[in-house]
Order: sequence, then structure tokens, then C-alpha cells
Amino acid sequence: MKRILITGGAGFIGSHLCDRLLREGNDVICLDNYFTGSKDNIRHLLGNDHFELVRHDVINPYHAEVDEIYNLACPASPPHYQYNPIKTIKTSVMGAINMLGLAKRTKAKILQASTSEVYGDPAIHPQVESYWGNVNPIGIRSCYDEGKRCAETLFMDYHRQNGVRIKIIRIFNTYGPRMNPNDGRVVSNFIVQALKGEDITIYGDGTQTRSFQYVDDLIEAMIRMMATGDDFIGPVNTGNPGEFTMLELAEKVIELTNSTSKIVYCPLPGDDPKQRKPDIALAKEKLDWEPRLKLNEGLRKTIAYFEEKCKRHA
Ligand code: NAD
Ligand code: UDP
Repeated sequence: MKRILITGGAGFIGSHLCDRLLREGNDVICLDNYFTGSKDNIRHLLGNDHFELVRHDVINPYHAEVDEIYNLACPASPPHYQYNPIKTIKTSVMGAINMLGLAKRTKAKILQASTSEVYGDPAIHPQVESYWGNVNPIGIRSCYDEGKRCAETLFMDYHRQNGVRIKIIRIFNTYGPRMNPNDGRVVSNFIVQALKGEDITIYGDGTQTRSFQYVDDLIEAMIRMMATGDDFIGPVNTGNPGEFTMLELAEKVIELTNSTSKIVYCPLPGDDPKQRKPDIALAKEKLDWEPRLKLNEGLRKTIAYFEEKCKRHA
């Protein structure tokens, strides 16, 4: 049994990771400040003796004896990370320093939940890990993109300078049950709008693309990455190479929910990347991993979750 710390453990991805690591017989410490996460996501774990919930902000140091750390604490949706951009960059940078310090002291392995946003508005398609990216350092997405890039730098420097055992994964758009219905990301927005019969809001002309990964596939990749030997540190992309325009996504959601919603076009936010698709050759080679769920299957499961949630709150 390992003692594992998950920062951002009450969030969408973190809560699924708590479930999986507990199922595998580990002790889990879930640390969160509840900025975008919620106790609802981990309420079902509260009676479990192997689960500990700690309210803590990662911009402050945290001490515990742990074997592994998954560093997920950071708001992930554009409206939430832009709400208080200075706090977002502090969370990424100071959170990384604090967690790397803890990993250094305890000799724990530490995995960073980095992002496809480090590639910015990419000039290379699909995106490979060796691509350095095309990021605006002074735009409205920069607090997130540059914060995550700086966190990767810190991980590499703690590794080179102090021998910290690091792992970096670059997560592409991930969706599934327990996404916050109000967090503004495209999959949750479209599903909630479709279920309520409200207009589906496409930003821009809807030709921009994203590649959507179901959360269970991501969790599998995270576990496999943490289990690799110390000689493989990444960064490694995890995502589903199926690429869709936002218009295609809207049409799929309308079809799968049998919704009467109409599509409306809204202004495109600044610096919105035009295309995004992971090259996952490295993950296939090093983790023997590839995503299993196709978008339609994943959307069906996510729609079922939001339907149930809407009923409970009706
Ligand atoms: P989320 O917003 O649901 O989860 C983030 C969690 O971090 C929340 O529980 C939040 O309360 C917590 N948090 C935020 N600031 C904190 C702080 N200062 N101290 C302690 N806790 C804090 O988002 P998610 O989709 O679950 O994302 C989890 C991680 O994965 C993030 O680091 C995100 O950048 C990364 N990621 C996610 C995606 C995606 O598509 N979901 C893509 C790329 C990277
Ligand atoms: N988007 C959209 N309508 C929405 C929310 C988002 O058309 O209601 C678009 C957004 O402009 C972007 C894409 O969907 O092009 C993905 O947005 P999201 O916020 O989910 O993630 P990110 O931009 O960080 O990939």
C-alpha cells in the first residue's frame, strides 16, 4: 500500500483519480481549496478509512509523508482560470514549487498534470512532445499557459538539480461525469444547454477543432505514467486523436440528447487555438496505452450523468 497525495483531488479529474487509487488499495490524501472542485465529487469517499480530505491552498507549503504526488491543483476552464489570473499563475508556479519541495524531502515520485495549452495556438499538427509551442505570453490565456509552462520548467530543474523523480503528462481536452456544469468548458456547456433546451453557444464560426478524451482513458494513462521507471520522465501527451470541429460537436450533442436546441454563434474569445490534436506515438510506445472510448460512447455516459444531476436538482 502506498500513501498518495492528490492536489486538486476534489476536482473533475482528481476525484476519478481518488476513486481509482483507493480501489487499488492505496491510502489517499485529497488536498483541495474547493475553488472549482466540490465536496460532492468525493462525498462518497468520506467514510473510507483510507481516504483523507484536507482543505489547503497549494500556494502555501504542505507537509506529509507520502510515496507519490499527483499535482492537479489548478482551475482548468478558461472562464475560471481567467477569473483571477494572478491567482491562477500563483497556483501553477508556487503550487509546483511547494509540491516539488515536498517530493524532494520525502523522495516521492511526483506527476505534473500539464496541458496541451503549452503548445498554444499550434503551428504543427498534430502536436508532438518535441514541439515548443506558439504561446502568447501577454494574452488572456497566458496566466494558465505560461503558468503550466513554468511548472514544467520547475519540474525539469528540480529533476536536474535535485534528482527529484518527476513525471510530466500533457493532457488534451478531457471530459466526463463530474465536470462542473457551470465551468464553461465546451462539452459541459453544450450538454447542459441541450438538456435544458437552451441555445447551443458556438464561439466563432465553429471550425476550430479539439480532440476529446474520456476521463477513464486519461486516468489509465496517469496510472501507467506514474508506474514507469525513473528513466522515463516525459513529457508525454495523453489525449484522443479523434479531431472534431465545435460545430460537429454541437451537432453530435443535439443528436444524442434528442434536443430541440438551436445553434447560435457568439464572439470568439481572444487567443482561442484554431486546432488541436495529440500525437500519441510516445504514449503508445512508453505506456502501452491508447484511448479506448470513442466520442459518441463517452458523450452518452456524460449525458447520462448530467441528466441524472439535472433530475436531482429539479
Ligand atoms: P477542475 O477545475 O475540476 O479541478 C481542479 C481542482 O484544483 C479543483 O478541485 C480546484 O478546487 C483545485 N484547486 C484550484 N486551485 C487550487 C489551489 N490554489 N489549491 C488547492 N486546490 C486548488 O479541473 P480538472 O479538469 O479536473 O483539471 C485538473 C488538472 O488537469 C488541472 O491542473 C488542469 O490544468 C489539468 N488539465 C485538465 C484538462 C481537461 O481537459 N480537463 C486538460 C489539460 C490539463
Ligand atoms: N467553445 C464554444 N462554446 C462554448 C464553450 C467553448 O464554442 O460554450 C469553444 C471554445 O471557444 C474553444 C473550444 O470550444 O474553441 C474548447 O473550449 P474549452 O473551453 O472547452 O477548452 P479549451 O479552449 O481550453 O481547449
